[in-house]
Amino acid sequence: MKLTDSDIAALQEIVGKENVILDNEALEDYCHDEIPSLYFQPDAVVKPENTEQVSKIMALASERKFPVTPRGAGSGLSGGAVAVEGGIVLSLEKFNRILEIDQENMMAVVEPGVLTGQLQKEVEAVGLFYPVDPASLDSCSIGGNFAANAGGPQAVKYGITRHYVTGIEAVLPSGEIINYGGKLVKNTSGYDLLHILLGSEGTLAIVTKLVLKLIPLPKYRIDLLVPFSSFEAAADTVTKIFQSRITPVVLEFMDKAGVKSCEAFLGKELPFSDAEAQLIVGLDGNNEELLEQECEIVGEICLEAGADDVLVADTPFAKENLWEARRELLETLKAISEEVEVEDVVVPRAKIPEMIRATVEISKETGFPIVNWGHAGDGNVHVAILKKDISDEKWQTELEGVIERVFQKAIELGGTITGEHGIGYLKRKHLPMAVGQVELELMKKIKAAFDPEGILNPGKLF
Ligand SMILES: Cc1cc2nc3c(=O)[nH]c(=O)nc-3n(C[C@H](O)[C@H](O)[C@H](O)COP(=O)(O)OP(=O)(O)OC[C@H]3O[C@@H](n4cnc5c(N)ncnc54)[C@H](O)[C@@H]3O)c2cc1C
Repeated sequence: MKLTDSDIAALQEIVGKENVILDNEALEDYCHDEIPSLYFQPDAVVKPENTEQVSKIMALASERKFPVTPRGAGSGLSGGAVAVEGGIVLSLEKFNRILEIDQENMMAVVEPGVLTGQLQKEVEAVGLFYPVDPASLDSCSIGGNFAANAGGPQAVKYGITRHYVTGIEAVLPSGEIINYGGKLVKNTSGYDLLHILLGSEGTLAIVTKLVLKLIPLPKYRIDLLVPFSSFEAAADTVTKIFQSRITPVVLEFMDKAGVKSCEAFLGKELPFSDAEAQLIVGLDGNNEELLEQECEIVGEICLEAGADDVLVADTPFAKENLWEARRELLETLKAISEEVEVEDVVVPRAKIPEMIRATVEISKETGFPIVNWGHAGDGNVHVAILKKDISDEKWQTELEGVIERVFQKAIELGGTITGEHGIGYLKRKHLPMAVGQVELELMKKIKAAFDPEGILNPGKLF
């Protein structure tokens, strides 16, 4: 939908001319997220600086019925922050202040545009810890994490965004401002509005302030890189580590195709690149001696389960080396393939080898190259389907079938189609595969209760 001159003038009145972007070149950065092929130009980008302005913008949009797409840092992988039906992108980039780090209650109060990595650094400087660590942490915002219910490698021990938000301020599509929760560890006052908004991908309300729980920062951390000649052995090891009653802080895996791609892209040899699978196991704690003992136990479990070796990284330099392939993987894939379709299925942890075997089979049968990596401790498998040398015609006509086979397998194994990237625009037609008809109708009723005019982030989820 096109904004009228009078809509634009009203927006400029609310936030000032300098905060309404209309110029095509300046709009460019807001036309996509990290999936460049999902490209939609908004009529304008609006950058409010406070909650009152967001409230006025939403009241105006409600009255004039133009679409509003909230946007954090734009690092999403499902087209959630893209204005697929035009109207405005409402960027929260100016909500970038850490308002308070309350050491007594171990809580932080932040604006949604604060980058996750920045918050982590600031709380760690006072001995506290915000452990939600999406691999994109230096380029994603706390508001985007809330809207996507983001997780990260440390979720296996410390959980995901859901476990750390205890209070919010948000603006409804009508312009009304709501508050729920606070610096509270517990809260059972009525329906839990916070957790209805959490993970709602900017379709129900715009979050303008968050209260986050912090925990004490563990003193020590050791990471292990463990190569295996089979996925089964790697997956067995994951189960055995948990059975030993040691909870690792991270338990990541990558397949050989992923490591080899990184090696070629970075132009240097990476450790154990011929292994069929690699695990990164991280352990942390406050007692150095105990941590070293746990590290030895985990090392032995790995070797007994068939690991070819165990590389220990206990210095920042060694850790940097060990994580290089894992961290660079998505960028590598984008560099070696003109298009990359990243799926994000999640299955019960013990089903990971079956899931991966299925993707290898799908790749062989369809001719589409597939790379797997992910959070083994959470059962979260990232399945990247690469275009590489595949013709445009085959990519356009057959990709959908490949995606559906991957999703079907995850569901058959008791899993679902997305663990952390969300449904957004990209997977909206697949949502009915993951949830039943009654559940879907209930979700649509929740959407209608918050947003009866359908102006907030239209075209997403459903
Ligand atoms: C290299 C790479 C690695 C990644 N690794 C991970 C990972 O390990 N774990 C993980 O979970 N994700 C990961 N992601 C995905 C992405 O970083 C997360 O989804 C992140 O939470 C998005 O935050 P953002 O600020 O960039 O949000 P955006 O992309 O700007 O928006 C995401 C969604 O949130 C909504 N939104 C944003 N701000 C608000 C707000 N204030 N109020 C209401 N709605 C809002 C938007 O409308 C959109 O629907 C990765 C992405 C990349 C590119």
